[in-house]
Amino acid sequence: MAELLELREAQALVLDRIAPTGAERVPIERAAGRVLAEPVAATCDLPRFPSSAMDGFAVRWAPAGDESARLRVVGVAAAGTPSARPLGPGEAITISTGAVVPEGAAAVVPIEHVSEADGVVTVLGSVALGDNIRRPGLDVAAGDLVLEPGVRLGPAQVAALAAAGASEAQCRSRPRVGVLVTGSELRPPGSELGPGEIYESNGLMLAAQLVAAGAVPAQLGVVPDDRGKLEQTIERALLGFDMLVTSGGASAGERDLVREAQAAAQVEEVFHGVAIKPGKPVGFGMRRSHPVFNLPGNPVSSLVCFELLVRPAVNALLGLPEPLPAFDDGTLVAAIRRGPRRDEYVRASTRREGSDLLLEPATGQESHMIVSTAKANALVHVPRGDGELAIGDRVRFLPL
Ligand code: AMP
Ligand code: MG
Repeated sequence: MAELLELREAQALVLDRIAPTGAERVPIERAAGRVLAEPVAATCDLPRFPSSAMDGFAVRWAPAGDESARLRVVGVAAAGTPSARPLGPGEAITISTGAVVPEGAAAVVPIEHVSEADGVVTVLGSVALGDNIRRPGLDVAAGDLVLEPGVRLGPAQVAALAAAGASEAQCRSRPRVGVLVTGSELRPPGSELGPGEIYESNGLMLAAQLVAAGAVPAQLGVVPDDRGKLEQTIERALLGFDMLVTSGGASAGERDLVREAQAAAQVEEVFHGVAIKPGKPVGFGMRRSHPVFNLPGNPVSSLVCFELLVRPAVNALLGLPEPLPAFDDGTLVAAIRRGPRRDEYVRASTRREGSDLLLEPATGQESHMIVSTAKANALVHVPRGDGELAIGDRVRFLPL
């Protein structure tokens, strides 16, 4: 293997080559989780009209202690049903939250701040001009920006689009990603296993990671360690998908045929080998505009390489402005020995203590240990060097 690349260099080489996918119109009821491709402007003011923030009474300007604090109730304004008449001197109108504040009203007095008897309300306490009236356009004005492109639409964003009058949104197309799993020893989950065979698990894991990242995975099946079959599948995959992710067969063993097969399929290798543990043999190439990732077969390596390299690529395909993984800070509760040559990503579990997040490294850290990884929820970054990270050290971690 040639000299190992630094992870950040590898990430830069990937991101340099990826442009966002095309865009499509998506009805907002199906837009949750999608990424906006165009800015969205409000079609109306929000609030649309002067609206009441409280259940109570719409009143004219009435300083405290004034005679006019005793007001005759002359009508009702409910949400969706404005009052049929304006407010005159000495009058009040019963109003509910979200109702149009009637013409002539200077404030809304909450129901808790009046006494009411025989169709007359007495305002208790002072009222200031504009109290409990939501002014039109206070949230957003008609024509102003609701959301920028590159925003992933979560619940609040979808609600904001709907509230501001959008029924569709121009969103990035979900990247279609082929998942090609190789290894002659791999059998479908639940099947009878022959000697030396194991259950295939990376395909499922990668598909789940792709879905979580906002892509659409397609399983290309499990291909045995056979160069011809690999080459055929890779050729086919590169026609139908925006990106290809392979698992297994990419190291230096004699049955690791993915790189050879790819070269024959005109995939240009960009790098092979990154200074990380696990995941050193990870590779990346391009076939024209199609990115191709080669992930190592060891399940934990595959998982880690996805988070550090493939997810950023999916984020870039989606046009997210900050595609690289977002690390948090926490405090180690057990020491971790550093590696001399590679940065390590150590599986750990988080625990809150006051305002601090504590990180407990998992006991099994080898790259085949998917079960111990399944009990973890964080990858702690352990920079290479001498000695160890000590108990109490502040470290960076990636939530899983
Ligand atoms: P490889 O990268 O093909 O040399 O595989 C490294 C190790 O990961 C071997 O022990 C494989 O059996 C195992 N492995 C490879 N692919 C998978 C997979 N899809 N699911 C589970 N284990 C795998
Ligand atoms: Mg293999």
